[in-house]
Amino acid sequence: MNHINKSTEYWQELDRAHHLHPFTDTKSLNEKGTRVITKADGIYLWDSDGNRVLDGMAGLWCVNIGYGRKELVDAAQRQMLELPYYNTFFQTTNAPATELSQLLAEITPEGLNRVFFANSGSEAVDTVIRLVRRYWQAEGQPDRNVIISRNNAYHGSTVAGASLGGMDPMHEQSGLMMPGIEHIMQPYWYKDGGDLSPDEFGLKAARALEERILEVGPEKVAAFIGEPIQGAGGVIVPPESYWPEIQRICEKYDILLVADEVICGFGRTGNWFGSETFGIKPDLMSMAKGMSSGYLPISAVMVGDRVAESLIEKSGEFYHGFTYSGHPAACAVAIENIRLMRDEGIVDRVRDETGPYFQKRLRELEDHPLIGEVVGYGMVAGMVMVKDKKTRELFENGSEVGNICRDHCFNNGLIMRACGDRMVLSPPLVMKKAEIDELLEKVKYCLDLTAKDLGKL
Ligand SMILES: *Cc1c(COP(=O)(O)O)cnc(C)c1O
Repeated sequence: MNHINKSTEYWQELDRAHHLHPFTDTKSLNEKGTRVITKADGIYLWDSDGNRVLDGMAGLWCVNIGYGRKELVDAAQRQMLELPYYNTFFQTTNAPATELSQLLAEITPEGLNRVFFANSGSEAVDTVIRLVRRYWQAEGQPDRNVIISRNNAYHGSTVAGASLGGMDPMHEQSGLMMPGIEHIMQPYWYKDGGDLSPDEFGLKAARALEERILEVGPEKVAAFIGEPIQGAGGVIVPPESYWPEIQRICEKYDILLVADEVICGFGRTGNWFGSETFGIKPDLMSMAKGMSSGYLPISAVMVGDRVAESLIEKSGEFYHGFTYSGHPAACAVAIENIRLMRDEGIVDRVRDETGPYFQKRLRELEDHPLIGEVVGYGMVAGMVMVKDKKTRELFENGSEVGNICRDHCFNNGLIMRACGDRMVLSPPLVMKKAEIDELLEKVKYCLDLTAKDLGKL
């Protein structure tokens, strides 16, 4: 198709007529028209009107390596010419799937040595549920089937993912949720911490897990799942006391600990996995997004030795999988992505250099009249827009405030996402210091415009 002679209006019209967008109010979008993104390079996007946009979200938390990496394209092309597809069901495998499995075992924390492939984060999370329940059946404890998650967690949008996540608006629209799922409080100190210190509050939030385990009955609880840092919930960074206490409680009651690394994985927090950043020792890890830097869809569950050995030795056939599990082209791209991140020291640079710089520059915003707290690790950060900085009082209409800010960003060449009243950033990991400065300048400018709208400047 020749895009050259076609206009923004042309695509907007097709979109309006036929395309239903995810997580979108279609009516209001259709009224204003979609932005058509036509190309990208490095950390920038271009739209069909020729505007350049700084992508502060790395797509949707996924283009960790940045746009325009020809090596990834070549890897896909080579593989597609050689073997574009074959399944992994029929006692068969393919070279990229085997090599990626080995590579993932190498870069993930100790004890995670086996991989189950899928295509999206949601499918990986579904796979976690299937694996956890199958594990306890195989161990002779089939009543252990309750999975405990948290309010305001995001674990995907399939029925199982939406059920496991703690997003009230999603629950309300989904009808009956999956049974066997419990939600506890999230470790969001700024909002819920009251007079407690962050560490006191972190312990309290973690102990909510123990309370729920005792309510449900320890013999019925299969697993706890959490994102090391809640992403879509607004980049909620738990107090330091939180994860060690969660770990302790899971061990005490012999409950599987699952880290949903879909956002935190692949360098986002300055280590290969968020579990390393927080000292978590997970039994299972779901991952997607940065795994292929979004160039092709692929996801996986890392399965720890305890679960894997049981599954292999005691479980017989595991009736689960996807047509595209271990897709050769997607695996080839993921391999190349990981190889480049390693060879170019991208994760190390985020840990030692650009991540700390990004976080330090962002903390300057804590002086802004609109900003309560700024939190984050590596190249992911969240800040909350507040009504009163002294009392930590939030806006009643938080989402509206978020949308005002998001729209200013949109109109000023910056992608920064609003999660309610929290503005979040998750830029490509390859960002250089000068680009971070440019990002900060834009963020400040858009926050100022928002503050003016709210009569705070
Ligand atoms: C994005 C996300 C998912 C879902 O991934 P999809 O590829 O959109 O299905 C699951 N868990 C977390 C933590 C995520 O951020």
